[in-house]
Amino acid sequence: KTYGNQIIDSHERFEDYEWHRKWMESQSRKENLPEYYNFAGDAIDRWAALEKTGARQSSNPALWITNDEGEDRTWSFQDLSTVSKRTANVLIHKCGLDPGDKLILILPRVPEWWFVNVAAIRAGLILSAGTVLLRPKDIKHRIQLSGAKCIVADRLSMDNVDKIADECPSLKSKVFVGSRSETRPGWLNFEDVLSKASDEFQTVKSKFNDPMTVFFTSGTTGSPKMAQHTHGSYGYGNIITARYFLQTTEQDVVWNMSDTGWAKSAWSSLFAPWLQGSCVFAHNTDKFDPVSTLKILETKPAISVFCAAPTAVRFLVQHPLRQYKHGKLHCVSAGEPVNPELLQEWKTGTGLDLYEGYGQTETTFLCGTYPMMENRPGSMGKAAPGIDLKIVDDNGVELPPNTEGNIGINTNNYRPIGLFSGYVGDPDRTASVFQGGYYLTGDRAKIDEDGYVWFIGRADDVILTSGYRIGPFEVESSLIEHPSVLESAVVSSPDSVRGEVVKAFVTLTSEYQSADRNKLIVELQEHVKAVTAPYKYPRKIEFVDQLPKTVSGKIRRVELRNKEWEHISEK
Ligand code: ATP
Ligand code: MG
Repeated sequence: KTYGNQIIDSHERFEDYEWHRKWMESQSRKENLPEYYNFAGDAIDRWAALEKTGARQSSNPALWITNDEGEDRTWSFQDLSTVSKRTANVLIHKCGLDPGDKLILILPRVPEWWFVNVAAIRAGLILSAGTVLLRPKDIKHRIQLSGAKCIVADRLSMDNVDKIADECPSLKSKVFVGSRSETRPGWLNFEDVLSKASDEFQTVKSKFNDPMTVFFTSGTTGSPKMAQHTHGSYGYGNIITARYFLQTTEQDVVWNMSDTGWAKSAWSSLFAPWLQGSCVFAHNTDKFDPVSTLKILETKPAISVFCAAPTAVRFLVQHPLRQYKHGKLHCVSAGEPVNPELLQEWKTGTGLDLYEGYGQTETTFLCGTYPMMENRPGSMGKAAPGIDLKIVDDNGVELPPNTEGNIGINTNNYRPIGLFSGYVGDPDRTASVFQGGYYLTGDRAKIDEDGYVWFIGRADDVILTSGYRIGPFEVESSLIEHPSVLESAVVSSPDSVRGEVVKAFVTLTSEYQSADRNKLIVELQEHVKAVTAPYKYPRKIEFVDQLPKTVSGKIRRVELRNKEWEHISEK
């Protein structure tokens, strides 16, 4: 097999795990990495050039956005190349930014989100994307922490920014994306300034290790942390996400549903597909609707890679999937554990497999299940090529197979390309996660003799009861097998005899809303005892209307756990 050098050719699908593991490992070594790298110049402009000469092996656009009215708009790589040069001119000349300056971007799934991302990279600015759900105080916090000089925002976030702009002395320019005719004092109208900007722009010669972007983590366990990535780590490191998670090529159209504010959007709606010359598809809508999602998949069979968070899949499988047509589609899910029951329901309803990905804002794709490999339900598959994933104890010592420990990424032999450079403004935290030659993820798991990784839970979520350690994932996966359970969150709860016991918070499916709750508690407990080791069954069960979640849809067990323990610490 031959592959291109820095930008990898995209025609080969992943079929030989061992071969790819060795190959990605060699690609990750320092001597094989380029000194300079810029995603705008090295990926977008390259695809634009190939498109121009007819050498890109696809007539798909680069970007395809549909709205709630079903109107489609598309952009080619050449369009993107040009518009991102014009946008870069706006950022440098109209907003007065210099390379190295920080920029905050708050936009929904409108094309300008992609234009500004690529332009910022082209101009050497350090971009931080936030969700449109951010409140004024969140925006203030982000501007102040990052020292951002410029903000690009949508119509609604503009009002939020104006409420706090006085308290943000670093902020020098503000740009809004709205209708061309609109004006607001102190703000530049993006469309207006863009229309007057030049197409000529000299892309900065960024070093592979220069900072490129700062992403906020999801805030599942506490306040979001600012993870800094370089041109190399995200702009190039997502090649691992592209090849082994999305498995996308020039011929593919990738629909990743995640919100534009999260690292997952950088992985799968920006870097990974465009590294491979694929088309990015997006549905510009302000709320997740299972039915319209299924309809889009049915009516747009060109979509060939589909990525939805487990929380979205849990809602999709509540609908009669069989009534929709499902073409050939590589379906993936990441961000939270994927319960085996969910894989089964998706397969039964659509006839399609659902592959799992594990990773973090701090990294690119780390581990997953793959079509060419035996799938072991409940396991999140094997380490991605280019990732030396190990289970280590708290002192960074590798543990034997089938032993619970910390998921650590070994950096002794080579540093994975996609690993972040550190938490901005928090050297202590950075030092605490880089220990003994490992990057410690904060997650717990086991690896079996064959290299399959079995997720247990976040370190903080593991429950200790009567000397046993119980991971919430296994109990939640057992519960969701019961037809009454829509979602569940399993946490520790105080107990005078056992110290702590397993408690499950459960939301019910629509058919079980009026069921006898006391009977159901016993039934669920018996069910868990029957499908998993009996000591893991939830001694306490509480039914709730909804579970506390992050804006990106992840279950915040910490909130439930704190409530359980609140009255104990007060005593
Ligand atoms: P914070 O770090 O702010 O508490 P977060 O960890 O949820 O939030 P992200 O970086 O978005 O922020 O998520 C990464 C985490 O999500 C992982 O560390 C892991 O706990 C969880 N995760 C992601 N994918 C999977 C998966 N397939 N199975 C289990 N857990 C997963
Ligand atoms: Mg985290």
